[in-house]
Amino acid sequence: MSETNGVVVVTGAGGFIGGNLIDALRGRGMLRIRAVDIKPFDQWYQRFEGVENLSLDLNLKENCEAAVRDASDVYNLAANMGGMGFIEHNKALCMLSVLINTHMLQASVKHGVKRYFYSSSACVYNGDKQKTFEPPSLKEEDAYPALAEDGYGWEKLFSERMCRHFREDFGLYTRMARFHNVYGPWGTWYGGREKAPAAICRKVIEAKLSGKHEIEIWGSGNQTRSFMFIDDCVKGIDLIMNSEVVEAINLGSSEAVTINQLVDIAEDIAGIRLKRKYDLSAPKGVNGRNSDNTLIKKLLNWEPNTPLRTGLEKTYKWIYDQYQAREEGEPGVVREMAAAQ
Ligand code: NAD
Repeated sequence: MSETNGVVVVTGAGGFIGGNLIDALRGRGMLRIRAVDIKPFDQWYQRFEGVENLSLDLNLKENCEAAVRDASDVYNLAANMGGMGFIEHNKALCMLSVLINTHMLQASVKHGVKRYFYSSSACVYNGDKQKTFEPPSLKEEDAYPALAEDGYGWEKLFSERMCRHFREDFGLYTRMARFHNVYGPWGTWYGGREKAPAAICRKVIEAKLSGKHEIEIWGSGNQTRSFMFIDDCVKGIDLIMNSEVVEAINLGSSEAVTINQLVDIAEDIAGIRLKRKYDLSAPKGVNGRNSDNTLIKKLLNWEPNTPLRTGLEKTYKWIYDQYQAREEGEPGVVREMAAAQ
């Protein structure tokens, strides 16, 4: 992390990536961190002592101003989001995240923020380029002509452009990454907003512990995706924030697998085999998608490289522990961390 004298703000801090980013920032000696999320504190996935925690609705401009006061760096990770089931059924809610980014950008300019990071998504890519199950590796230019994922993807594409124009017109230092399916510990693993790796781990654990050796899979299982482990995501955010890369860039793994292969790996980890039932009417997203990492390798000399098997083992173990804690009536999910030394 680069040296900074002001406060570092992380929005969406009570969520998956925000919480893990704060953990990394503290680990690198960052002392003045402000964590902001709309959720009440007891619902944050991770909370850290020595960090200024604020529960604020960042749809509101005055709350964004309170969030960025005295800040030098802003990492805007707050958004309404979830897996395919959530984004297909909550398009208006997903699009309303435009309020968060708009007001955060305006507040950042007004209060002299030095650097601003925006978390975009692979859902900005043109749907026509993702029709085959043979996974197309999506290059940055494949977002245009625009035909993004309805709702969630359009908001991300629009907000990317707003970041770009705030840089061009108002001189705000903005950096943008297009995350491709992030997974790992301290993420959403049940409740309807979880994404495929967490959902599949949870279903495999349920089957193993209940003895009912069946699993329901959304779609045919032939859809292809790549999945990025959270440690790679956090490292990539740091590299991109500190880079000269001003256009939105892919931040994702290029190890594409089918959903069936993802289930194979989770079954291997659990040491069981399950009967698969395919729900063809369930939300399943585009047929194929992978991250083309030519640009990130060229410009940052790095790409996310945690093998899926390695990351999924850690995620499976974490969800297993959470699952058992919940079964035993313990809260399980919130982690309280002592102040950084
Ligand atoms: P998450 O849902 O765990 O975290 C997002 C957080 O934003 C939540 O804690 C939520 O309460 C908060 N939030 C929502 N509305 C808010 C508001 N009005 N004011 C303040 N906080 C608000 O999701 P995540 O996986 O940590 O995602 C972080 C960012 O990365 C999001 O912008 C998301 O769109 C983007 N992204 C994530 C993935 C992924 O695979 N996880 C992929 C692509 C992009």
